[in-house]
Amino acid sequence: MSVWAILVAAGRGERLGLDQPKAFAKLNGQPLLAEPLRRLDESDWIDAIVLVAPPGWEEPAILLAEEVGCGKVSACVPGGETRSDSVRAGVAEVPEDAAVVLVHDAARPRLPAEVIERVLAPLSEGWDGVVPGLPVSDTLKKVGADGAVEDTVSRDGLWAVQTPQAFAADVFRRAVANGGEATDCAGLVEAGGGRVKVVEGDARLLKVTTADDLAKIASWL
Ligand code: C5P
Repeated sequence: MSVWAILVAAGRGERLGLDQPKAFAKLNGQPLLAEPLRRLDESDWIDAIVLVAPPGWEEPAILLAEEVGCGKVSACVPGGETRSDSVRAGVAEVPEDAAVVLVHDAARPRLPAEVIERVLAPLSEGWDGVVPGLPVSDTLKKVGADGAVEDTVSRDGLWAVQTPQAFAADVFRRAVANGGEATDCAGLVEAGGGRVKVVEGDARLLKVTTADDLAKIASWL
């Protein structure tokens, strides 16, 4: 069974307020992208990696992959306007005979090896997709533009979903080809009627959005 990883790193990361894209923000002295690349490359479960770089940053991304010794990077392509477009660009580089596609956000650099294993295992039970998640623990409120609370939403059965997300390659390819937009890949598969399972995620999979997130993750490494 061949497992192809797509590492999506084409986001602009405007909330970090830097001159360069988020994937090249410094994390303990190295571009953030180096950490998830290294972790995917080191996983025995992953056979090959497609890197989706910010448009115009493909060359620095390839050089970085070489610098950190990531031998599994098979292609590096520019991303699109939205995350779904970037995923589509990545899937186009996955060969027909791949059995599984695993998509990971470069913005979640602290990727624990055990989560990769956890999302791959249930695919052999017939699930179309498997995603890591954590039950929501805060109280949820719907808030209007003026800051007024409009509703308190029950958090029963609500999970915050992370990446890496793993999919049967044929189902994933069809879901992505259907077009459409979703904030995660499972959303595309669900829209096509696919069955997606949630397994236990990991708080260390925090997504870098602000400079504080970057500092927190740097302190964990
Ligand atoms: O901004 P968002 O939370 O959707 O970003 C999640 C991941 O998707 C990040 O790793 C980011 O680099 C990637 N992304 C992308 N192309 C876009 C937008 C986001 O590859 N157009």
